[in-house]
Amino acid sequence: MASRVGLVYDERMCAHENVDSDDHPEQPARITSIYQRLKAEGVVDRCVQVDAREATPAELSTVHTEDHISLMQELGHKSFGKKKRRRLQETFDSIYFNEGSAVAALLAAGSVIEVATQVAEGKLASGACVIRPPGHHAEADRPMGFCLLNNVAVAAHILAHEKTELGVKKVLIVDWDVHHGNGTQHMFWTDPQVMYFSVHRFDQGRFYPPGNDGNCTEVGGEEGKGYNINVPWPNKDYGDADYLAVWKYILMPVARQFNPDIVLISAGFDSARGDPLGRCNVTPGGYFQMTRQLMELANGRVVLALEGGYNLTSISESYLACMQAMLGDSPVLKVEHDLLPETFPVIKEVRKHLQMYWPILAEEPLPVPFTPAPSLASKSSTLQELEGMVIESLDEDQQWQTPPQPAIIPITDLIDLLSKLRAWDGSSDIVHDEPTSSTVITSDEKGKKIISSGELSFAGISGPEDIATVLQLSGADSSSFAGEGDGGAVEDEVATGRMEVESEFLRSPSGTMEGIVNTKAGKEEWNALGSTRKIVQNMDESRNELNASGIDSYRNVSSDLSSSEEASGAGDIVEPSYMWYACYGSNMWRPRFMCYIQGGKVEGMSRTCIGCRDKSPPLASEWLSIPSRLFFGHESTKMWGLGGVAFIDPVPEAGILTHVRIYKITMEQFNDVLSQENPGRVERSWMTGRHIAQLKKESRHFLDIFEDEWYGTVKYLGEKDGLPILTFTCPESHMKKFRSGEFGTFAPPESYRNVIVHGLVEDLGLTEEQAHDYVSSAILPK
Ligand SMILES: [Zn+2]
Repeated sequence: MASRVGLVYDERMCAHENVDSDDHPEQPARITSIYQRLKAEGVVDRCVQVDAREATPAELSTVHTEDHISLMQELGHKSFGKKKRRRLQETFDSIYFNEGSAVAALLAAGSVIEVATQVAEGKLASGACVIRPPGHHAEADRPMGFCLLNNVAVAAHILAHEKTELGVKKVLIVDWDVHHGNGTQHMFWTDPQVMYFSVHRFDQGRFYPPGNDGNCTEVGGEEGKGYNINVPWPNKDYGDADYLAVWKYILMPVARQFNPDIVLISAGFDSARGDPLGRCNVTPGGYFQMTRQLMELANGRVVLALEGGYNLTSISESYLACMQAMLGDSPVLKVEHDLLPETFPVIKEVRKHLQMYWPILAEEPLPVPFTPAPSLASKSSTLQELEGMVIESLDEDQQWQTPPQPAIIPITDLIDLLSKLRAWDGSSDIVHDEPTSSTVITSDEKGKKIISSGELSFAGISGPEDIATVLQLSGADSSSFAGEGDGGAVEDEVATGRMEVESEFLRSPSGTMEGIVNTKAGKEEWNALGSTRKIVQNMDESRNELNASGIDSYRNVSSDLSSSEEASGAGDIVEPSYMWYACYGSNMWRPRFMCYIQGGKVEGMSRTCIGCRDKSPPLASEWLSIPSRLFFGHESTKMWGLGGVAFIDPVPEAGILTHVRIYKITMEQFNDVLSQENPGRVERSWMTGRHIAQLKKESRHFLDIFEDEWYGTVKYLGEKDGLPILTFTCPESHMKKFRSGEFGTFAPPESYRNVIVHGLVEDLGLTEEQAHDYVSSAILPK
């Protein structure tokens, strides 16, 4: 049986017109355009025509004050002159009146009541109202924002509270107009029987209607708490994928549980692509999907009522798409699938305020959406493709738990290689079997770099304390470390350590550096051997030179250090053993990577890198693709500013391909790059041949080298030309926090993004557009 879809339209609603302005956006042509489009497409003939009728004062009194109802009626009286109307309209916010305003407003409200009632009665399966003026800004006691009477609110109230014989106990109002429906929200603020859901531009309270009403903190009051849901977009451009994500992760789960008896849609199409007021990006395909999903509720009892929307073509095509969904047509329209980076942060925030009322939202952590690799991505796709690629895969939390798969590159026997590998090992006269090292870069107020580099080995301590000691002994300032993983916590520790080391040092007997280091981790005994002290003292002397001459003096420091080492017999210079360092972020651009090798910085970097001890350039470089998800994590870095930096999920994932550039460098250089990526870390557990052997044995081929550092995990990707390919990323413990949202994911800063794009364009050969698309595709929600 064909479903009976009601349609109401009446030209008398064109009588409301702005007589002072020809180009007021809320114009009669809005409804004539829509109706003509529906007619041309044969939709009108497929619907049941419902006659428009005026709302009665009794009906309107369910949500409006008597004064307001009287005013709306009097507006139409002949005695109500032009001047009076004009004077009156000035007292309201964004309102015009003419002699036709009253009849249009009463017909608009009455039409929604009529259609909604017939749907509730079962005479119609669903219904559509091509009406104006719109309603959702209208307050109980006054018109506002082009709205005279709150059409949808009147109908909702009557169904939920007046016509109880129809059995409608719960009404869901879905308001996708780009503006927040302040009037509707206020009318049902404490009413648990009428759920008001609105997704709209909020722009931190600056978008119309201004103020905090549309914020997601506004969840309803008293009995109605949890029944008012606002999804506030922070700016323009939100489109299909963003709205469908809101449907999937907020609206639909809550609506299913609320289980309404009827759904009324405040269908403003000023959220449509092309709207001059909304500047958002929903396409007809998006509205089709949004409607179709709402048809799954309340046995399909859905009523569509026009609110705003000011581009005549956009509103006509969009309205048509909604009606095709109501008529059960197959989807033929394309849906755009680009999610904006703020969408999931917004969704997460909304859920945070709602989940105490709707625990279903808390049951599952927000999944990180799968974004297709650039080769698969296109500007738009068919609906089917969209569902496969974006929306459905948003579901797949388990993607994160995909069982480990073998590395893509066959692993050959490493034994021969390992016999050649020698980690940096200059510790014959030091207590430890493996020495520690520190490289620290600081800068003075004028941005001049002060570089301290040394090799220190202490008994029983490692990590920030070592640096703290270096800093203390060399008198350097700890406030500035270069690197991408420069979390504040490490610095705090260093600062604490430095302070306490300082006090202890002053009390130490001169000449023998023995004592207690107080750190956050507790007291640890240490002693520094003469050779170490000598190095430190040497650094201290060099420091003044550095202050004067800047970064170029680093070489002198290096040679000073070498000679110190030799004098103390602290280390042999090992022969370089090569490996492939694989990178997927800014290091893909060779000039940026060379900063880690040779020191210095490129445009966009706010800090200068110290470089490696061995400044020889890489012997070779190639590009690979690996099946690991690329994303941008953390809020900001000192190196690049506000925004995330690149990581890969250490666990491979089917269907993902991430560009990786590999550089042939020495193990020592790799260790030095690792150290620069994790500034402030001095650990005994440097990457050594032993670690590589262990990585090879590990079923998942990754190991935490620094347990709680941003880039503390080294991943073995396989081999090339008999040499291991290694990269580093965040530890698995951090991945868990990224997944749960405890750690944020943010779009990369412009500076960082540009460096990645440079690499992909200049060195890999992508077009600018491809490179930007590639970066965009890796931007994940928090
Ligand atoms: Zn609007």
